[in-house]
Amino acid sequence: MEREEKYMRLAIAEAKKAEEMQEVPIGAVIVLNDEVIAAAHNRRETDQNAVAHAELLAIERACEKLGTWRLEEAELYVTLEPCPMCSGAIILSRVKKVVYGAVDPKAGCAGTLMNLVTDERFNHQSEVISGVLGEECGRLLSDFFRSIRKKKKR
Ligand SMILES: [Zn+2]
Repeated sequence: MEREEKYMRLAIAEAKKAEEMQEVPIGAVIVLNDEVIAAAHNRRETDQNAVAHAELLAIERACEKLGTWRLEEAELYVTLEPCPMCSGAIILSRVKKVVYGAVDPKAGCAGTLMNLVTDERFNHQSEVISGVLGEECGRLLSDFFRSIRKKKKR
């Protein structure tokens, strides 16, 4: 788990950058051969773009960096369980392994509501590890939403 925690800490650092921008704190990094090749955080509000999720942006950056759409040997670390769109992007880019922190009971499609990334009906499956620093990742989100509610009351 040490290896997973090391990279999850980097994803958490990305999530904190999102928080500084008043974005929901979700961060992701992509690792290839023990090297971080892409990092991104949620930018939905900043970009006013419904698809600007951390995982999707990280996948785009990794493809751009490697000059290929195939991320077959890559591992994706993300602080929150991927939604249906990002799980789709994980399948399409053929990410080898997905490691996530907190589960998402409202949109999680890597094990909670369903599991798109291990479904054998698709032509690609990823290995999934969940709950890595999950408490810390979840706390980041719950603290953020609590502070928003407080601001609204003022
Ligand atoms: Zn997503």
